[in-house]
Amino acid sequence: MGSGSSEGSGEALSASPPVSLASVWESKGDPANSAYTYGRYGNPTWTAFEVALGEAESADALLFGSGMAAALALLLSLTSDCSRIVLSSDCYFGVSHLARSFAGRGIVAEIVDLANEETVVAALGRQAAALWIETPSNPLLRTADISRLASLAREASVPTVVDNSLPTAHLQRPLDLGALASITSITKAASGHSDLVLGAAATRDEELLAALRDWRTAAGLIASPMDAWLAHRGFKTAGIRLERQSLGAQTIADYLAAHPRVERVHYPGLGKVASYLATQMPAGYGPLLSFEVAGGADAAEEVVAASRLIRPATSFGGVESSWERRARWASETAPPSLIRLSVGIEPVDAVLEDLESSLASPKAS
Ligand SMILES: *Cc1c(COP(=O)(O)O)cnc(C)c1O
Repeated sequence: MGSGSSEGSGEALSASPPVSLASVWESKGDPANSAYTYGRYGNPTWTAFEVALGEAESADALLFGSGMAAALALLLSLTSDCSRIVLSSDCYFGVSHLARSFAGRGIVAEIVDLANEETVVAALGRQAAALWIETPSNPLLRTADISRLASLAREASVPTVVDNSLPTAHLQRPLDLGALASITSITKAASGHSDLVLGAAATRDEELLAALRDWRTAAGLIASPMDAWLAHRGFKTAGIRLERQSLGAQTIADYLAAHPRVERVHYPGLGKVASYLATQMPAGYGPLLSFEVAGGADAAEEVVAASRLIRPATSFGGVESSWERRARWASETAPPSLIRLSVGIEPVDAVLEDLESSLASPKAS
């Protein structure tokens, strides 16, 4: 029913699900007996993608109009009056901003450094409603041990949720590691083509799933069917894109670490790799890395401006390599000379060549 295909009519089945642009479906009697009635409640194009998203995490998935819409639904589902939510100190700015904006409404965001176990345990003990993890973090690419933190949270009867936007379920499966739910900004690597904004939440918990769905419907946090279809198409190649991007990022991180103009490189696969990553991220560490250029903010801006292949742009996870000096954003707390690079799927030699010439630009020397 959901596929809209024409079984029984003698027509061939399509290899790709159709796009259903309808906002209204014919239905009679109890609406609970109709799969689709009205566009804000559900849509067969969402369903087809949600099945694929769910399979990737062996869970139920719900599609949202953006990663932030999924984050909002999850925060609202986990909290009520007087709730405290424990957030990692280097989680996505949009998420910490959102969580902190609930302050006047009785929900407190408690920001902790996930690397400091004592602080985390103390925060969990203050009747926390949830532990919100993001790993690898961005733009410093710090990692956290999801299994370890989830078990600490479980001891305090606190559910753990993970913002999995950077790795996606192809590189990291938080629910297998003890998390109750994950969210993913589909805008990034999950769709991969820098042409839409969407988000998703996944869980194996029926009660939470129902709450998330209620918030989506009540607040209209919904996706356009056309975007859902496009994202579904991109998602089919996410696994191979991320594998290749991870290989490219590792090669580039190694190259930058040996470059005389580069003071520091941040990538989970550099130096002494955390032992838990062997099971947590077995297929690679993702497309994103960052590095600090000698010469400060001006030198970093100059390097970014000098590239001919790597696109000067924000966001990450797309098929085209892109970079930016992060501190150009007022909200950024990263060092002024830090450049965040998202490695695309170009031949890695072409990206290395562009890096070599960009790092040779005047002010950078
Ligand atoms: C981009 C991003 C979000 C927000 O997603 P949108 O699709 O832009 O709403 C949330 N968390 C992380 C880690 C992100 O990178």
